Amino acid sequence: MIRPFLVGFATTLRHIFKKPITVNYPEQKVPVFPKYRGKQVLMRDEHGLEKCVACGLCPTVCPANCIKLVPGEDEQGNRYPLVFDIDEFRCIFCGYCQEVCPEEAIHMGRHYENAEFNRARFVYDLERLTAQTHPVSELWDPAHPRGE
Ligand code: SF4
Ligand code: SF4
Repeated sequence: MIRPFLVGFATTLRHIFKKPITVNYPEQKVPVFPKYRGKQVLMRDEHGLEKCVACGLCPTVCPANCIKLVPGEDEQGNRYPLVFDIDEFRCIFCGYCQEVCPEEAIHMGRHYENAEFNRARFVYDLERLTAQTHPVSELWDPAHPRGE
C-alpha cells in the first residue's frame, strides 16, 4: 500500500527541480529546426526586383497544385510573374518548389504562425510572399543556406 505512494512521490521529487520544458507562448517561442519547412518567401534581387523568372517549374512540380502563376514579359524579353499566388491551406510544405527553382527565387521559411480569421487570407500573393521577413529553411542548399 505504501510502496506505490513512495514510488509516485519519488517520481515527483525527481522532476520537481528539473528545468521546465514548456514555454509561455506567445511571449516565448521555441526555436524551429534549421530545416523546418514553413511559409514560403519569394526573394528579390539586388535591384529590388523579383528573382522569379516565371519559368513555371514550381507550379508544375507542386503536388498540391496550390501555386497559381501568370507569367509576364517586359520589352527586353525578361520574364517575371504577373501573378504568383500560393494557397497555404492546400500547401503540404513538401519543399519541392524550392528544390526545383533554377533561380533560388522561392524558399521555404522557418515560420509557423499562420493563423488567420478569414480563409481568403491564406492565399498569399506576390506582394505578401516577397514581404515575408522570417528566416528561410536551410534545406537542400548548403552553398546558400540562408537563401542569400
Ligand atoms: S511546398 Fe510543396 S505543396 Fe507547398 S507550394 Fe511548394 S511544392 Fe507546392
Ligand atoms: S521555379 Fe522559381 S523561377 Fe520558376 S516560377 Fe517558380 S519561383 Fe519562379
